[in-house]
Amino acid sequence: MNKQYLTDLKCNTCGQTYDINGSIQSLCPTCPPLHATLECVFDYSAVKEAFKANPLSKRRDMSIFRYMELLPVLNPDAHIPLQIGWSPLYASATGAEKLGLKHLLIKDDSHNPTASYKDRASAMAVARAAELGFSAICTASTGNAAASLAACSRAVHFPCVVFVPEKTPTAKLIQMLAYGAIVFRVEGTYDDAFEISIRACETFDWMNRSAGYNPYLVEGKKTGAWELAEQTGFNLPDTVFVSVGDGSIISGLCKGFQELAELGYVKHIPRVIGVQATGANTLVRAWNRFVETGALDIDTTIQPSTIADSISVGIPREGIRALRMVKAANGFMMAVSDEEILTAMRRLPLETAVMGEPAAAAAYAGLIKGSQMNMIDKNSTAAVFVTGSGLKDSVAAENAWRSSPLNAIKPGPNVFNMITRILKDTKIQ
Ligand SMILES: *Cc1c(COP(=O)(O)O)cnc(C)c1O
Ligand SMILES: [Zn+2]
Repeated sequence: MNKQYLTDLKCNTCGQTYDINGSIQSLCPTCPPLHATLECVFDYSAVKEAFKANPLSKRRDMSIFRYMELLPVLNPDAHIPLQIGWSPLYASATGAEKLGLKHLLIKDDSHNPTASYKDRASAMAVARAAELGFSAICTASTGNAAASLAACSRAVHFPCVVFVPEKTPTAKLIQMLAYGAIVFRVEGTYDDAFEISIRACETFDWMNRSAGYNPYLVEGKKTGAWELAEQTGFNLPDTVFVSVGDGSIISGLCKGFQELAELGYVKHIPRVIGVQATGANTLVRAWNRFVETGALDIDTTIQPSTIADSISVGIPREGIRALRMVKAANGFMMAVSDEEILTAMRRLPLETAVMGEPAAAAAYAGLIKGSQMNMIDKNSTAAVFVTGSGLKDSVAAENAWRSSPLNAIKPGPNVFNMITRILKDTKIQ
């Protein structure tokens, strides 16, 4: 048991603390839902001692579990036996040059078992659900969280139920089915699926992995910040771009950077910049109000519409915490149009050799726009988190490359004449 590290669950708004093994494992019961997210509290002086006794540089576990003392699992053997985290970090000279940056770093989380950033969080939720004795785990999801939960549950043979909107891309549905989750496809939006998942968990006493509801996700999601720090030799970039749906990944990254400062690994943390789609920009609007008036509230009436399904969220469940964290990280929120996302989808693999699904490319679109509009310093270093693989949404990918030529040729004596003719008209990029 490493209870000496994880000490409490604490309400983000009223500050009330709850027993980590108690009956409250979702929201603070006395605060309004979107303000009631619980936060894991750690004893950082104990973590510091542990990190001193067993330095990160000597650890051989190349996965999220190398940060065990900072994870919300009490049983140190509660690993999910899949290779989650320690995703590659690439420096892209071409991307940096095109964007007028000193360095561009690409953190490629398509390398996770289900090809999205969500695996970092699902592992935490499944480990906790198992050690708390729940009979099953359940989530609402735009697709990636459910695919990821299905795989992490399967890895330890824990029952898994998922609720997904009807627009979920086929590849993500196939993942859920392949890992044997019980799949409910909701005739409605993600926000509809979310409400149903809450009621299902209350009715059947399952753990809920849904974002903004499960207090353990952010702790898995913060590992990306720790890895970025280790992979850059604790020379963090000036800015970090990440796309935002519910606001859980960005909250996690901000928490990770805060911890790195708290534990004395870095002096400065990056500005963390959250990118939403214009058609699902609830948090950008809330951010603008927050900056102008100091009021933290979320308009729950926006009907999301964007090609970036993973961030097609009308009511961001982790939004309030995300806005607070982004402010503390001296960052900001911005929106990009679907057109800008499609352009970024095409540019990302050409400039960095990494493909992303629309929601992942949205972060790159944010960087392109941010550098064009002088929202970030020229000659600075930026990192982009690629949160999901380019093959996750094949319809969006087909649209993005619809006009790229597939040069049709026929085998036979004339084939090289054809090839030569085509090459004459082809620009090698
Ligand atoms: C879930 C997801 C996001 C957004 O994460 P939130 O925690 O909902 O803000 C971004 N990109 C991809 C690929 C995702 O699956
Ligand atoms: Zn509270």
